[in-house]
Amino acid sequence: MTKHTPFPEKGLEESAIWQVMDCAKQGDVDWRGGRLPGFYVHFANDDVDRVGKIAFQKFQATNALGLGAFPSIKKFESEVVEWALSLFQAKEGVASITSGGTESIFIALKTAREWAKATRPEVTHAKMVISHSAHPAFDKAAKYLGLEVVRIAPRADFKTDIDALKGALDDQTIVIGGSAPQFTIGVFDQIEELAAIAESRNIWFHTDACVGGFLSPFVEQNGHAIPAWDFRVKGVKSISADLHKYGFAPKGASIVAFADAGYQKFQVFDFTNWSRGRYVTSTFAGTRSGASIAAAWAVMRFLGNEGYRKIAEQVWQIRERLLREIPAIDGLFVCGDPELTVMSYGSKTLDVGDIAAGLAAKGWYTVTPSLNPPAINLGILSLAFGEVLDLYLNDLREVVSQLKTGVNPFDRSLIGSYGTR
Ligand SMILES: *Cc1c(COP(=O)(O)O)cnc(C)c1O
Repeated sequence: MTKHTPFPEKGLEESAIWQVMDCAKQGDVDWRGGRLPGFYVHFANDDVDRVGKIAFQKFQATNALGLGAFPSIKKFESEVVEWALSLFQAKEGVASITSGGTESIFIALKTAREWAKATRPEVTHAKMVISHSAHPAFDKAAKYLGLEVVRIAPRADFKTDIDALKGALDDQTIVIGGSAPQFTIGVFDQIEELAAIAESRNIWFHTDACVGGFLSPFVEQNGHAIPAWDFRVKGVKSISADLHKYGFAPKGASIVAFADAGYQKFQVFDFTNWSRGRYVTSTFAGTRSGASIAAAWAVMRFLGNEGYRKIAEQVWQIRERLLREIPAIDGLFVCGDPELTVMSYGSKTLDVGDIAAGLAAKGWYTVTPSLNPPAINLGILSLAFGEVLDLYLNDLREVVSQLKTGVNPFDRSLIGSYGTR
């Protein structure tokens, strides 16, 4: 006998389904109210949210595995891809929509590996070198792909230690990666320098712009300086950029882009050795809904360049306030010099775990602090956070002054995690 809950014999009335689900939802974090600073939900405003949702529903049953059967999805994907390549300043290039940043990085590294097999047949033990700050998705992909990963401790300003990286390169290195910007500290790796080193040694270079890719172009258009990261940089062969982050598309949408259409043959899985004959895919999934592609198209077309620029400026202003006001709180400092809209703050006198617990107790969904350096991650993922910014800063001041008295009333079990088993 199974010890698991038996599958209910009878179906539920539709109304009862909604009742159960709405009830379950009560426990979810209030992201619409901006109570989730730094993780999980990017949210521009109700209009953008609605447009994405309606488009998602309209194309819910489509299958992006069969673009011939669904020319609608084919049109949406190719237009989103065109817009992305143009925003990333690609002269030529190709791109695909994937399910998220992790898949985009996976496909980029898979392409790099196949490219290396074809162009550097002497490599027997393919290796990737990245800074210690790079997202775990690099290692996740490397595990599937059988690549060895070497992570280099960053410099004091959290950028890549170029000398150490050079020292780690050998004749087996096929990929170097850099972040634009890094997920937690928010600084950009030196993409120009890294891509030049890669190019001079016939190594693939990948820019991970998962968080920044759909924000940096608009911030730059608004006149703020952004370090070089896109296809204007010589040697950048691929870019990952998430539509479901600052593209504000419903989750399940990201771009993997390549500088040259010639790399596509290393990207696709093209197979014939089974009874049905030829089967070709460009991304990891087989069957996948066209809904997230349609929804990304709808949101991008709804906002247009002008809409994104406006949101980018609002997000930028929230960043400016945080960079001013957090270090003004006694005992706190912002780590490094964040160059976009994600940042982390630490404390010389207090344990950041206690601060995180204090914020969690005050109803801010707070994820375990970064390990090295110990810091609380803060990303302006949502314009809703801007609306409760004063409240957040007040609560943070209160938590800090309470901890300074030496009494620690906060329960650490309220702190969340980045990812789950
Ligand atoms: C979010 C993020 C990822 C992973 O993206 P998912 O969509 O969560 O798979 C990778 N790299 C960076 C820099 C990111 O910000």
